[in-house]
Amino acid sequence: MERWQKILQSAVSDPAVIAKKFQLPEDTLRRVAGTFRFRVTKHFLSLIKEKGDGIFRQCIPDPAELEDDPDLMKDPLGEGPHALVPGILVKRYPDRCMLFVSGECASYCRFCTRKRRFGQKIDFDPARVEEGIDCIRKHPELRDVLVSGGDPFLLTDSRLESILRRLREIPHVEIIRIGTRTPSVLPERITVKLVRMLKKYHPLYVNVHVNHPAELVPKSIAALERLADAGIPLRCQTVLLKGVNDDPAILKELLQKLLKARVKPYYLFQCDLVYGTRHFRTPLQRGIDLIDSLQCWTTGMAVPRFMVDLPGGFGKVGFSPEHRIGSDGRIIHFRNYRGELCDYRDVPEEVPE
Ligand code: SF4
Repeated sequence: MERWQKILQSAVSDPAVIAKKFQLPEDTLRRVAGTFRFRVTKHFLSLIKEKGDGIFRQCIPDPAELEDDPDLMKDPLGEGPHALVPGILVKRYPDRCMLFVSGECASYCRFCTRKRRFGQKIDFDPARVEEGIDCIRKHPELRDVLVSGGDPFLLTDSRLESILRRLREIPHVEIIRIGTRTPSVLPERITVKLVRMLKKYHPLYVNVHVNHPAELVPKSIAALERLADAGIPLRCQTVLLKGVNDDPAILKELLQKLLKARVKPYYLFQCDLVYGTRHFRTPLQRGIDLIDSLQCWTTGMAVPRFMVDLPGGFGKVGFSPEHRIGSDGRIIHFRNYRGELCDYRDVPEEVPE
């Protein structure tokens, strides 16, 4: 057994431990954890500075998870109806797909889009994953494969490598992406051995998931550096979460720390309409205002795109702050990041000959 696997075994999954540590009612925690699986690594738990902070909210079961909300759904992204291989392979866009290879996560995020899968015994039998890979082989339009889960990095190196090797054997698969939260929750997983294996399968991208600046401590930054040093481009997908990162100063600190760790902030996602997450929801305008609070106030590379993954599998749409405030013929009126007004003289539309 590798060191990271031993560390994972020490993760906390007993609500009694949390009840005692934070003086919370154990029966309530048990009720929530009985519906939506609970586990948190000791590393992530150690990042909590106080009850209710941005790390606490992400990993500690909350009774609000059991509140009904008619706007929320079990499968908000319509992954079921868009499956090419049920539970294994989803195609929602013309040229790419998502291959689920693991049902496990080191810590279970309370806002996860796939909460419906928490606590279920999902069959990730290698034969079923192979069925997914076979299906990719039969679809020549699939040039980009996102390897997801659960967390793919919870597989052993040899299991993950066998999947990557099979994908690389498919001539039309140009890009492989892996989505993981391990640099934040189990940084020990990013071993030298793992990155040595990954770099054999370029072009390979790793999309990490970091939501709060307190997640970027020396151990997690070192894990990201190991990946970056292997020539693996790193992108971050952050979920906008009430009480976690819906604050301009916190978000800016997060994005700047990511960039410093050689991770490009890629998307800021509106929290999906997942059941059991109503306490994390923010109005759409909040995300637009947050992006507006960043543009030009920090380097453009640190500013992600604000995206909404539309319910029902309709795909992602981007929202940007509106800096164009009107027009008068060829004159377009803009408002800049300081609120100053400026006119721009546009070129007339070309008249076809
Ligand atoms: S690591 Fe990702 S898949 Fe796993 S619980 Fe967190 S958000 Fe969900």
